[in-house]
Amino acid sequence: MMQTYRLSLFVSIIIVLTLSYNTTANAQVSNNFVIMIDPGHGGKDSGTPGTGRYKTTEKDIALDVSLALGKMIQQKIPAVNVVYTRSNDIYPTLNGRTVLANKKDVDLFISIHCNAQPGKTGTAYGSETYVLGTTKNKQNLEVAKRENSVIALEDDTEVYKDFNPDSPESVLGLMIAQEAYLDHSIKLARYIEDEFQVTAKRKSRGVKQNIFYVLAYTYMPSVLVELGFLTHKKEEDFLNSKRGKELMTKSLFNAIEKYLQYLNVNTNDVVFVEDTTTEPPSKSIEFKVQIAASSKELETKPYNFKGLNNISSIREGSLFKYFYGNTSNYEATKQLEEEAKKKGYKSCFVVAFKDGKKIPLIDALKTISN
Ligand SMILES: [Zn+2]
Repeated sequence: MMQTYRLSLFVSIIIVLTLSYNTTANAQVSNNFVIMIDPGHGGKDSGTPGTGRYKTTEKDIALDVSLALGKMIQQKIPAVNVVYTRSNDIYPTLNGRTVLANKKDVDLFISIHCNAQPGKTGTAYGSETYVLGTTKNKQNLEVAKRENSVIALEDDTEVYKDFNPDSPESVLGLMIAQEAYLDHSIKLARYIEDEFQVTAKRKSRGVKQNIFYVLAYTYMPSVLVELGFLTHKKEEDFLNSKRGKELMTKSLFNAIEKYLQYLNVNTNDVVFVEDTTTEPPSKSIEFKVQIAASSKELETKPYNFKGLNNISSIREGSLFKYFYGNTSNYEATKQLEEEAKKKGYKSCFVVAFKDGKKIPLIDALKTISN
């Protein structure tokens, strides 16, 4: 009986954390963690040609690094599913890429690109990782303009009619749709830029924000990586070299691994570690559903949260986190989570509080099971 209970607790913990894991015989979990890798450009759209000294262009380097990254993830973390927007030299539309990501229930979207300065050569070099956001920085604006510009070359431009990075209303709408995922996107972006510096010994130009179509319309944490400048001779040589691609791939892999650890996504065989310390049963455990995170403070009114009532918020660093519901009953919280998902908060998740302080969910579940 106890064992059955432990097993069911074990299984539910896995489901709760979207651990997406089924290599252990006992845990039958169907929804694996899915990473979509999006090699920028492709086919008729070659991306930046760089200095022109190489036959390869941005689309080729993006594809090479994307495929190597996917392969490394599948080899080292087989519990994670990898899907691509393209795995050869074709051009999926920007809209097609986001539709695919949303349809496949992707948990993380990574778009891989190379940067360029206007003109054939330039002095700028280094990596940048973007999350959705607004900027007044001229260089960031140019990067987004260049990456979005292919829209104009697509056959069906009708689907892009609501996408207008120059309109404050349009941008506000895009930002609200992405708020729920922003803190996760920033987390991964930081890991990526750190890894480029530490593992690949590259210059990092930092985590940046701007309005990229593929970031605005993917309803999950998403980042766009600029590996480096192909208009910078030395960096172009590096990114065209086998060693260079390997280092960038390894950096991206390390960052993803850190991100999965941060999310508590289990990547090892041991899933549930028995805690030998026993805490007395506590009535002070509360469960809530985290639905959004935002850099700006929103009134906790239903109209700001797709009609959901009983919204609370806390401030963590520079972010305000918003929660739906408040109950000591874990099962009830799972129902609230389903409700929030139906309302469109697809990546919402259950969080636990003890005496008003956020604690790891697994600790809360252990406490209430005692
Ligand atoms: Zn690009």
